[in-house]
Amino acid sequence: MSDWNAIAPGVHQYRSAPFDLSVVVIEGADELLVVDTGADPFEGEAILAEIRSRFGRAPSQVVNTHAHFDHTFGNQAFAGGSDADAAIHGHAGVASHFVRYEGPRLAAWLEDPTREPGRRWGDVRLTPPTHPVGRTTSLDLGGRRVELRPQPAAHTDTDLVVFLPAERVWIVGDLVEQSGPPMYGSGSYPLDWPGVLDSLVHEMRPGDAVVPGHGRVVDRAFVRRQADDLRLIADRIVEAHDRGLDAAAALAAYDQWPMPVAGLAGAVERGYAFLDGAAPGEA
Ligand SMILES: [Zn+2]
Repeated sequence: MSDWNAIAPGVHQYRSAPFDLSVVVIEGADELLVVDTGADPFEGEAILAEIRSRFGRAPSQVVNTHAHFDHTFGNQAFAGGSDADAAIHGHAGVASHFVRYEGPRLAAWLEDPTREPGRRWGDVRLTPPTHPVGRTTSLDLGGRRVELRPQPAAHTDTDLVVFLPAERVWIVGDLVEQSGPPMYGSGSYPLDWPGVLDSLVHEMRPGDAVVPGHGRVVDRAFVRRQADDLRLIADRIVEAHDRGLDAAAALAAYDQWPMPVAGLAGAVERGYAFLDGAAPGEA
């Protein structure tokens, strides 16, 4: 699946295979901005070529919605020294998340290429943001204002929402997923995630466009439902922990979950670690 989708005038989603990653291009009179860069340099270069052929120029600004590999390992195709020579913006925690999670993940894949075959892991240079974002920041692309809003820990400790105030478009990375269930991946905060979504829902309006990290554009009602699902899971983790159930028993204790149980083991483990007093990031 590789296709462009118009979200608003000058705002475009490109769904990049193979992870159905949302790449978003925002056009300004002076500059082009791209959100997220693909899972390896090859995908990053393909995205850059796709942007050049469609818009006739390369992006001078890149934003990462969070640190996970499928959103950042294409950064080097856009970074200083590349054709695009772009500034890269991302949550101030991305560099340390790379050290803790994405670096070791890459090392494991290099050691055992059968785990993720067909990707250019050997060519990946971890490329953290050149512009770490510690608080809400505005960029002016020329007649178009873009807000970068770092979030409290939720899907990861590096989530950053891109908001277009004039167009009412929210680009939220994996805080919301549409083509698959929300991912409790490396470094997730299952107990805090629903509250972060609640705050975003509170600011969203019914007609707003919300671009998930993977999948088609959704609306406020979709985000409301996903926040409620994440809240139910968080509440059950706390309840099962209170009852003294181990992680496997916690999942077995309820007949139905709002998403496939296979994806929830990590959520329970992380939730339990926090309830047992592991410091944030130490779980
Ligand atoms: Zn992610």
